[in-house]
Amino acid sequence: MCGVFGIYGHPEAANLTYLGLHALQHRGQESAGIVTSDGTQLSAFRGMGHVIDVFPPDQIARLRGDVAIGHVRYSTAGGSMLKNAQPIAVDYARGSMALAHNGNLTNAEALREKLEARGSIFQSTSDTEVIVHLCAISTQRASEDRLADALSQVQGAYSLVCLTPSSLIAVRDPLGIRPLCLGKLRDTGALVIASEPISFDLIDADYVRDIEPGEMVIIERSGLRSMRPFQEQPHRTCIFEYVYFARPDSNLDGVSVYEARKNLGRALAEEHPVEADVVVPVPDSGVPATIGYAEASGIPFELGLVRSHYVGRTFIEPQQSIRHFGVRLKLNPVSATLRGKRVIVVDDSIVRGTTSRKIVKMLRDAGAREVHLRISSPPTQWPCYYGIDTPTRGELIASTHSVDEINQYITSDSLAYLSLERMQDAVIRAHTDATGRSTYRSLPVVGQLLQTGAFCHACWTGDYPIPFVPHPRQRQMRLLDV
Ligand code: AMP
Repeated sequence: MCGVFGIYGHPEAANLTYLGLHALQHRGQESAGIVTSDGTQLSAFRGMGHVIDVFPPDQIARLRGDVAIGHVRYSTAGGSMLKNAQPIAVDYARGSMALAHNGNLTNAEALREKLEARGSIFQSTSDTEVIVHLCAISTQRASEDRLADALSQVQGAYSLVCLTPSSLIAVRDPLGIRPLCLGKLRDTGALVIASEPISFDLIDADYVRDIEPGEMVIIERSGLRSMRPFQEQPHRTCIFEYVYFARPDSNLDGVSVYEARKNLGRALAEEHPVEADVVVPVPDSGVPATIGYAEASGIPFELGLVRSHYVGRTFIEPQQSIRHFGVRLKLNPVSATLRGKRVIVVDDSIVRGTTSRKIVKMLRDAGAREVHLRISSPPTQWPCYYGIDTPTRGELIASTHSVDEINQYITSDSLAYLSLERMQDAVIRAHTDATGRSTYRSLPVVGQLLQTGAFCHACWTGDYPIPFVPHPRQRQMRLLDV
């Protein structure tokens, strides 16, 4: 759960990176960083917290140069601390380089052990640092070849941007698990890279195209080059990006996230209808699916829960314990739309089940006569090893409980999840062409596309496209000052 950004050839590179990262804030709130290049020297600044807090204007002004990369982080591998903040920026025998990574490497620990055995000293516990060490020991001459050499040894998910004093390199792993796209500034023509195209809207850049799975794009003074350094593999983009993670106003690999979520809601209404008076979303993630559910079922859409957008990371917890305090801080019921009603509530997923249980209770306390929970994805049973923060398998309620048992635990009148087939179909149906028109009808055959394994759905099926070998290791040092 991270966001990356890069820009090449703009006098306000650091400022525009700041704005680009701001638009990607939903992808990670723990730390943020920017590294710039003035052609000879890199300048780096990283900090813990939200983009807006990490970068006061005087810090941005100190980031010199017309090329920049940036990162927002939500830790999945490595702890939440400044030493793990990205971009990673290093000086080594061949010069300077900086790297910002979204995704998770599945063989990072094994590689790290090998590197340490031959003398590498790691500065962080982040999996990304392995790539930097592999670049440093590569015998290739050109930066892009060293990076390709390093990446050919890692396994896992990576959408990354790399900065050298003279180039900006963007790479997406051969399976294309995490998104990455290319844009162009309208006024100067400067090229930009971002995890999601919503970054482009804020800086007046046009979306050009997605970086293709397995593609490496090198941007330098002479222009843009594309390389294919890895062996071609069937694409397995993360479908959870569409279900929950990406912003609804994004378009990933030609699929509108908003339309995909609406389709998920439509499919949910068709697959799991129930008589009710209103259908309400769990805001914000459940809103587009609820609109789709309402549209397909003819049941009126209402706001039954209102979300506070001001819940920070720290808050003063009252001395006396207040029931449902955590969820109440974020969500509050609208009793006017709930009292005496049969309510359908739509959310994107159930992880541990604690939020849903509290929401059902909250809706009943506000007067709902019946509460039917509908989930716009299948039961989450397996942890993600490719960059989404999920708890261990044992903590995922659906890995140990049947849908009936979860329904009982959550105390809903009924509970139903969207099937895997309908979920994939719903996302593919949201595919649009360059003019924004749905290309669903012109796609060969949806079934055929699914057979080729268009998506990674491991969190629901346990079908992991890249093997993950647990490699537990006890680290000795407790660094309390970083
Ligand atoms: P839980 O109480 O653990 O069942 O959490 C369920 C809620 O978490 C749902 O409303 C989801 O929208 C949200 N959710 C799903 N996946 C994640 C994730 N990886 N990180 C944070 N929230 C998530």
